[in-house]
Amino acid sequence: MGHSKPMKKTTLNHQPINGKTQLYGVIGHPIEHSLSPIIQNAALAHYDMNGVYLPLLVNTDTLESAIHGIKALNLQGINVTVPFKELVIPYLDDLAPNAQALGAVNTIVNDNQRLIGHNTDGEGFLISLTQDGHTDVTNKAICIIGAGGSARAILHTLLKEKPKSLSLVNRSPKNAQRIANNYETDIQVLELASQDLGKHLESQDIIIQTTPIGMGDTKTSSPITDFSWVKPQQICYDIIYNPSLTPFLKESKARGASIIGGIGMLVGQGALAFQLFTKKAPPYAIMKEKVESYYVN
Ligand code: NAP
Repeated sequence: MGHSKPMKKTTLNHQPINGKTQLYGVIGHPIEHSLSPIIQNAALAHYDMNGVYLPLLVNTDTLESAIHGIKALNLQGINVTVPFKELVIPYLDDLAPNAQALGAVNTIVNDNQRLIGHNTDGEGFLISLTQDGHTDVTNKAICIIGAGGSARAILHTLLKEKPKSLSLVNRSPKNAQRIANNYETDIQVLELASQDLGKHLESQDIIIQTTPIGMGDTKTSSPITDFSWVKPQQICYDIIYNPSLTPFLKESKARGASIIGGIGMLVGQGALAFQLFTKKAPPYAIMKEKVESYYVN
């Protein structure tokens, strides 16, 4: 999938590359459109660190040797994107609790030649919701549309924040129910086509759109077609970041809701990965500003 807006050129940080340079990267396939190098190099530059973060194209049949290569080449850490988030797990030495619970890894830390898998997607979403949405989750009625990998990561994080209620709306309710069954908390499941959908959405404080509808070939579509339920006090979040304004967000905004696009979640998960890699406080606002500046307005 290509970016709809042209991007400015990336620059590396100010430190010279030498024998002390720390190496980081992101593996995926494809990888050329990844924004992670911009996000991570902005943070390295902010701290004037002698480090470089690169995009690394990996094939499924070379994944195992690529992961062993983290140790062999002494990379400090890498991020993992589509389609390897589950596939890397057999090659790691240990998993942090979030990655264990979700069965998916987006960050690998090389801890003295032990590869530890983490998942920062859900917590990254939460950072964005609090920083960009200026809200917390406690006591809020929250609905997640979609029941894929990212919905699962978001749900897992939000449940720890004690919301008033959590619900899942999905095209295939059985997929949502399978996720809900993993938790003791009562999670309502609704079918996307349900007659009661509007009534349910009307009662929510925060609605999070996590399906791919609104990007690529479907950039003029939304999984929700009737927006008469939208109210100004609601927050509507779409985790799609390209385009930055999806039809779901446009329609919600037109009816007065506060809207947030997915770039914040992308930066949030990267910010937490940076913290795991370097043990430094991630400069979320700087990382976000940098990546947003690369889209020519
Ligand atoms: P996924 O695991 O493939 O899940 C897709 C979900 O969307 C499923 O619940 C699926 O429903 C639903 N869906 C797919 N096509 C649909 C359609 N035509 N109508 C209605 N529902 C449909 O995907 P994912 O990994 O969660 O990623 C989803 C989106 O999030 C992608 O657009 C991705 O780019 C974005 N994302 C953003 C970030 C970020 O940092 N901002 C991070 C991760 C992902 P069924 O269960 O019925 O199949």
